[in-house]
Amino acid sequence: MASIFSKIVDGTIPSYRVAEDDRHYAFLDINPVAPGHTLVIPKRETDYIFDLSDEDFAALHLFSKKVAQAIRAALPCKRVGVAVMGLEVPHAHIHLVPLNTEKDMDFSAKDTDPDPEQMKNIAEMIADKFSELNA
Ligand code: AMP
Repeated sequence: MASIFSKIVDGTIPSYRVAEDDRHYAFLDINPVAPGHTLVIPKRETDYIFDLSDEDFAALHLFSKKVAQAIRAALPCKRVGVAVMGLEVPHAHIHLVPLNTEKDMDFSAKDTDPDPEQMKNIAEMIADKFSELNA
C-alpha cells in the first residue's frame, strides 16, 4: 500500500508544498515543532532512509540543503536543524527545522493544530525563496 507521503506526491492527499524537483518533494510538517518545519522526501518510496542507494541518499541530502537555504532565507532563524526519525511514516524523509533555540527541536512539543492560513503563508515564503535561490 502506498505510504501517506506517496499519496502527497501524487496529489491524493493535500500538502503545503515548499519545493520539488523530478526526484524529491518538500512540504511543511502538518504538526510542526517550529514554524517552517519541513519534510523532504524522495518521490520514489523507500521505507528506511539508510536503505537508499548511496546515490539516492546523497541526492536527497543535496536537495535538502537547497531547501534548508530557502528556509533560512525566508524565516527568522539562527540555523536550520536536521533530524531523521521515521518512527511514524515508513517513507524516508528528512526533517528540517528552523532553529532559534534548542527547544525548537523538541519533537515531543508539536503544534497539533497549526493555523492553515499561517501554514500556507510560510510555505509560500519558503517556496518563493527556493525559486529565487535556484533560478
Ligand atoms: P517520523 O516518521 O517519526 O519522522 O514522523 C513523521 C512526521 O510526518 C511527523 O512529524 C508528522 O507530523 C508528519 N506527518 C504525518 N502525516 C503528515 C501529512 N499528511 N502532512 C505533513 N506531515 C505529516
